[in-house]
Amino acid sequence: MDKVESLVKEILAIIGENPDREGLQDTPKRVAKMYKELFRGYSADKPNITTFRNGTDGLTYNQMVLDEGDFYSHCEHHMVPFFGRYYFAYIPDKIILGLSKVARIVDFHSAKLQIQERLVKDIVEDLEKACKPKGIALVIKAQHLCKTMRGAKKKGYMTTSELRGDFLNNRDTRQEFFNLISNSL
Ligand code: ZN
Repeated sequence: MDKVESLVKEILAIIGENPDREGLQDTPKRVAKMYKELFRGYSADKPNITTFRNGTDGLTYNQMVLDEGDFYSHCEHHMVPFFGRYYFAYIPDKIILGLSKVARIVDFHSAKLQIQERLVKDIVEDLEKACKPKGIALVIKAQHLCKTMRGAKKKGYMTTSELRGDFLNNRDTRQEFFNLISNSL
């Protein structure tokens, strides 16, 4: 039996279950397998970030690019999920990002124990390094099960952001970004 499997079996007994009853027989095995998938961020290689030269075939793009999507992560304080939506934007300089790569980097950093404050920074750090943009911004809005299921038992959302370059220094750029995402926030 794999170590995680036997530990899960132990936890089942500690919380008052009978780990040997029929319905729970394969649960430790399933949980061990699931953990490998949920926390793949520890074992997977960081995804390569495909980039393109801005100006290829005479096309230079110098406006804001916006991308949004869902993400799922686990809070490092309770090991329960927090999940929600991310809103990413950047203003390219000499390099354009392959946009599916944003989702891959979000996924990579989400697949670990995280806090939302670090998650925005981890993602922006990698994407900024890859494309050295004029500005880069990320807002994450998430629901934390450690807040809704236990403790405060209050439904609510937490929003964190990381703004750099033009998004930090130029009020109009920042305003444009928040206007664009305000409908979905
Ligand atoms: Zn928590």
